[in-house]
Amino acid sequence: MTNPDTVTVSNFIAAIVDADVKANKNGGKVMTRFPPEPNGYLHIGHAKSICLNFDLAGDFNGLCNLRFDDTNPVKEEQEYIDSIMEDVKWLGFDWEDRLYFSSDYFEKFYEFALRLIRKGKAYVDSLSAEEIREYRGTLTEPGKESPYRNRSVEENLTLFEGMKNGEFPDGQYVLRAKVDMASGNLNMRDPVIYRILHASHHRTGDAWCIYPMYDFAHGQSDSIEGITHSICTLEFEDHRPLYDWFIDELELACHPQQIEFARLNLTYTIMSKRKLVRLVTEGYMNGWDDPRMPTISGLRRRGFTPESIRDFCDRIGVAKKASTVDVALLEHCLREDLNKRANRFMAVLKPLKVVIENYPEGDVDLLDAVNNPEDPGAGTRKVPFSKVLYIEQDDFMEEPPKKFFRLAPGREVRLRYGYFITCIDVVKDKDTGEVIELRCTYDPETRGGNAPDGRKVKATLHWVSAEHGLQAEVRLYSHLFVKENPADGKDGEDFTAHINPDSLEILDNCCVEPSLGEMKPEEICQFERLGYFCADRYDCTKEKLVFNRTVTLRDTWARLKKKS
Ligand code: ATP
Ligand code: MG
Repeated sequence: MTNPDTVTVSNFIAAIVDADVKANKNGGKVMTRFPPEPNGYLHIGHAKSICLNFDLAGDFNGLCNLRFDDTNPVKEEQEYIDSIMEDVKWLGFDWEDRLYFSSDYFEKFYEFALRLIRKGKAYVDSLSAEEIREYRGTLTEPGKESPYRNRSVEENLTLFEGMKNGEFPDGQYVLRAKVDMASGNLNMRDPVIYRILHASHHRTGDAWCIYPMYDFAHGQSDSIEGITHSICTLEFEDHRPLYDWFIDELELACHPQQIEFARLNLTYTIMSKRKLVRLVTEGYMNGWDDPRMPTISGLRRRGFTPESIRDFCDRIGVAKKASTVDVALLEHCLREDLNKRANRFMAVLKPLKVVIENYPEGDVDLLDAVNNPEDPGAGTRKVPFSKVLYIEQDDFMEEPPKKFFRLAPGREVRLRYGYFITCIDVVKDKDTGEVIELRCTYDPETRGGNAPDGRKVKATLHWVSAEHGLQAEVRLYSHLFVKENPADGKDGEDFTAHINPDSLEILDNCCVEPSLGEMKPEEICQFERLGYFCADRYDCTKEKLVFNRTVTLRDTWARLKKKS
């Protein structure tokens, strides 16, 4: 456990908590929670909140709960609960035995409501949802009081009990807090706190046909759990007076402090569950964990590591002002992590056949290859070299322009870990004229990649022996949207109009070096010169190798930093 005296206060929330601990507020205790609503999968924005809540608790000898805010029976599902728990664990956090559900507190919320009614601080309203909206007023005009606002306590108690007992249809009555219809804060204008909803809840079944509204459940759940610092995103800033009002009026012993921070937005993607669910249900994506999704499970399937996501959350920091983070930073964090630990291999994505004319038929040369130049402990492996090889189609040009230094007729290049080869002839398809094979010679003196006479070549190509290589499917992913801020709505178009039609390219005839046959699902490696790839979590098997491109090697973030 950390000694609070040595904690580095890394953001304004940590500074508040630090001051509270030093002042012995809450007896010096720190208790936080991560409170997802189980109505979708977690995304990278949630990761920011998870890291913040768990790390704050960790840094100040506190604890962090996982609490499902499951007060809306209509949109919630067990699948979401399971995925959320799996994702939080995968990120590396542990709620131990502190798994809670707001629905476990339904009885308590009901008691709280009765308490407010008895105090004359809540009433049953007969206005329709639309009338309530009309009566609410606007930012510039005060609201009007409901004609039912002054029902007697007895009448309110009887009606509310009737609501609970299922005597009325959905929408006939609501319970409202009696706060202030003239308040400058719309949330304080007698907010609805209970509604009738004849719907089955995934945990409480048909036990209830009235459900508390979010605002009436969240703060009270925090208080019940002894949360000291209730951290939430900025859109709840205007709800804070109401949060405090409920806890004060209910005279609850524990009064958590609500602190707001700006939510994470990332370029070229969207973050709202309401929109993400559309990508899935309308068939734009192959599920919530499609490797193009900004969900934790999507990033995981794509090959992101928990370490890189946590590092990213550290670096973006926590602020009060909304901003959009460049997705290049997230990718940069990933590259830094993978560069240290991903072993290198050779894989040819778009194979072009190369026949080495002067190499003896049937011979195999086992060449030594370094697994990871960044990690001497990773060792070496043998890569088979033989008469027929594949190189990348892109690495050859029949008529190369000035700056193309790779293979061309008459030119010599190096094969990684292998030999120098020279292209002496080109074989083309008779009908299409397409180059289908290169005839080359090799220099046996250059084994290992250097010429004894000191002559230089300008390019080193990756390659795979045709006889030894394994066939694989490789899925190349790029940004999900073509627009930096697809959700800004400024152009009046639905965000789906900006989906990148080329966000997935499947190459099903790739050839990878034999060692890659040993890759286990979710294992990550680097294909030399091409990027980092991971064996698909579900589809990669011994019989059929399937790799996802996690990220290319080009670090646009590092470049940007260098320039500025
Ligand atoms: P969304 O708007 O994406 O649907 P939400 O706020 O409705 O998200 P919740 O399940 O209520 O989703 O979120 C759980 C916690 O995660 C909340 O405390 C919320 O403030 C936080 N959170 C959600 N989105 C972000 C984000 N983009 N950045 C940081 N925190 C977030
Ligand atoms: Mg929410």
